[in-house]
Amino acid sequence: MPRYVYDFDEPADGGRDLLGGKGIGLAEMTQLGVPVPAGFTITTDACRAYMASGGQLPEGLEVEIDEHLARLEQTSGKRVGDPEDPLLVSVRSGAAASMPGMMDTILNVGLNDAAVDGLARRTGNERFAHDSYRRLIQMYGEIVDHIDPHRFSDALARQEDDLPGLIETFKGIYEDETGQPFPQDAKEQLGRAVRAVFESWDTPRAKAYRRHHHIPDDLGTAVNVVQMVFGNKGDESGTGVAFTRDPSTGEQGLYGEFLADAQGEDVVAGIRTPQPIAEMKGQLPGAFDELVETMRRLEEHYKDMQDIEFTVEDGKLYLLQTRSAKRTAAAALKAAVEMVDEGLITREEAVSRIDSGQLDQLLHPRIDPDATYDVVARGLNASPGAASGGIVFDADTAEERGKNGDAVILVRWETTPDDIHGMIAAQGILTAHGGMTSHAAVVARGMGKPCVAGCEALSVDAQAKRASLNGQKFGEGDVITIDGGTGEVIVGEVTLIPPEINEDFETVLGWADDMRRLKVRANADTPEDAAKAREFGAQGIGLCRTEHMFMAEDRLPIVREMIMAEDEDERRVALDKLLPHQQDDFEGIFEAMSGLPVTIRLLDPPLHEFLPPLEEARDDRMRSRIRALQEANPMLGTRGCRLGLQFPEIYEMQVRAIIRAAIAVRDRTGETPLVEIMHPLVGFKEELRRLRELTIDTASAEGEVEYLVGTMIELPRACVRADEIAEEADFFSFGTNDLTQTALGFSRDDAEGKFLTYYLQEGVLERNPFETLDQSGVGDLMRIAVERGRAVKPELKLGICGEHGGEADSVAFCHRLGLDYVSCSPYRVPLARLAAAQAVLSEAGIEAVSVGG
Ligand code: ADP
Ligand code: MG
Ligand code: MG
Repeated sequence: MPRYVYDFDEPADGGRDLLGGKGIGLAEMTQLGVPVPAGFTITTDACRAYMASGGQLPEGLEVEIDEHLARLEQTSGKRVGDPEDPLLVSVRSGAAASMPGMMDTILNVGLNDAAVDGLARRTGNERFAHDSYRRLIQMYGEIVDHIDPHRFSDALARQEDDLPGLIETFKGIYEDETGQPFPQDAKEQLGRAVRAVFESWDTPRAKAYRRHHHIPDDLGTAVNVVQMVFGNKGDESGTGVAFTRDPSTGEQGLYGEFLADAQGEDVVAGIRTPQPIAEMKGQLPGAFDELVETMRRLEEHYKDMQDIEFTVEDGKLYLLQTRSAKRTAAAALKAAVEMVDEGLITREEAVSRIDSGQLDQLLHPRIDPDATYDVVARGLNASPGAASGGIVFDADTAEERGKNGDAVILVRWETTPDDIHGMIAAQGILTAHGGMTSHAAVVARGMGKPCVAGCEALSVDAQAKRASLNGQKFGEGDVITIDGGTGEVIVGEVTLIPPEINEDFETVLGWADDMRRLKVRANADTPEDAAKAREFGAQGIGLCRTEHMFMAEDRLPIVREMIMAEDEDERRVALDKLLPHQQDDFEGIFEAMSGLPVTIRLLDPPLHEFLPPLEEARDDRMRSRIRALQEANPMLGTRGCRLGLQFPEIYEMQVRAIIRAAIAVRDRTGETPLVEIMHPLVGFKEELRRLRELTIDTASAEGEVEYLVGTMIELPRACVRADEIAEEADFFSFGTNDLTQTALGFSRDDAEGKFLTYYLQEGVLERNPFETLDQSGVGDLMRIAVERGRAVKPELKLGICGEHGGEADSVAFCHRLGLDYVSCSPYRVPLARLAAAQAVLSEAGIEAVSVGG
């Protein structure tokens, strides 16, 4: 019979996957001798079995829980349901992947009408006992029986000062909603709480969170049953959240928040705004010192920045959770650099600690320091970056507007986990309530979204869709700007500027560069993009598309002249006019990338893309040309090398412009550009053979320059016939956008927002194949191409230039395939550099930790 339950002090094989993050943390802390309340973990296996059976507890689980409960009674000296001195527990969710606040937890399980009096007598603290009981009824009612939380919170607001009365009201609400009295049997409470926590794995908000963070839906959650410790016993008690370093900046030193006389959920839910943790030192000096020492030990043990929950009961400290801290990219980099300096971790570990997906946070806009603006209010600087947008008051509207491409700021009294889809859609988040560790703050930091929290000058009436900031009134759609780095709130739009790369960023990426094997290039079509790419560390250009040059305003008329030409001679006249423009473009790019390779792709799109829509044609001649060029499926039509073969004069002009530009730059700067000429959409060796000939003939007429001739690999046929094609190619560059379309038979424009969105929602596909490489399908075609190509030509240069070249999992895959380089948009170059290093580290057994979400 499988085993489903482990005490915190029992070693379990299976680690995090089996026990969940919270469970493994509690077990490790217990085994380290850190003060943790006693308890046990019900494994994710049990949750999966529960889900698979449609809501049946797996056989033997109940018996096992009873056994572990009996052991807990022994260690605690208390008994479940004892009216004199009841054993109370929390029932806590905790999956292997961190999903903060997305699933449920119930505190004070085990209290009932009799035991509440016993607890009051036993502790001599009637207020505390009553407060604990009303919390149980409230949480249990909401989570187990899905009672509308407002029913409880409204009653609480009215009756806060009369706890015994409030308990009666709560019990009345419970009975009114469920038709049953509040359960008095402690074991029944526990059993239903465990089921409810299993089921909280599948709440809409948890699913939305998983989709956003690409966490599989079938992992399930573990359940932790933990003896209660009480922070709500008076001034000698309290609860808090703390970080070993500042999660926004990475600065060293204890950082966090504390609430006296409170239970844990008060801090996280942002119900009362807590005080900075430093103030705890004066109030509870002993517990504070122990906290500082314990956190130092935990960081040393985990060799990573930790985020912990703690409670102090009558002056005694307990830890309730530890995990790798969610942090901003800036904080991750600073902490990593400093931990290397402190000798706590190696450079390799430091590189593996950075979530590459987070890096683009540093590439987020901030407010132009030269801009002048009036700050209407200030809140906490909960998550850095600046954003402007129209105010929206609820998550659904945020999502709707976001889908329409509107920039919105989600303005809330406080956010709850149910707001997650709106937070995803919004540019920024502003809340009136809650501290630096409130839900809004934690989630925004993980997403890299600007957030200002706890803005006391803000009042929100979500129902009426009105807000006021220091007395100034606002409605839906009114534009504000927030700066999550300073906490400032500004009326109207402010100029934002792109961010600059700081020293920690350079340091860590420098280490990554020393570790990686893959080179990283950028896709850039202009000298400006090329320069930006170089600044971000690109080692060349992997894809320079020439069609954008054709589209430029001063060129388009000439391009149209060329397309409208009656015969080749007329076409050549137009092309001759285009040539100097192209040559200029290439010279600019070669100079920006001096000393580094530049791959230029010859014209790819079908010609009709350069003509106006039929209705706008200027005359009959143009109309008939547009009709002639029209194709039912242009994605598979006359484009790429098919165009180049039919109209060789176009490619000849482009090759001439490239070679002339290379010679001009060489003569001017003394540095010879490393030119790679790339033919698109090749499927047959004969296509490339002819085009190679054309390239060489044209180039040699211009003078002596070295260059490579290669092809994009973007058709399944090219992958399987890569051996033949390699005979004509110096390099292959996988165009995985089109290769994904052609291999999957998905037209991207017809897929996204349509059936593909459905597929992803329904779990037919786990990931969007246009975002992350379909490794087992498209990736296998690539593997075939690599093997067959290299078998014929071992020195064949291999790269990827699809958007996948800037996505971490795809970069790791390209590393394993043995490609020479990845190429991506300039802003993704830093990510690719880091991901390429992490791919090497992962082969050496140093796994990257993802803490971004
Ligand atoms: P979440 O994942 O939402 O943080 P937790 O299971 O960690 O949920 O619990 C919610 C709050 O209740 C936390 O602040 C936690 O510290 C507190 N808490 C959980 N178990 C106990 C316990 N046994 N005694 C005291 N406080 C607890
Ligand atoms: Mg927690
Ligand atoms: Mg293509």
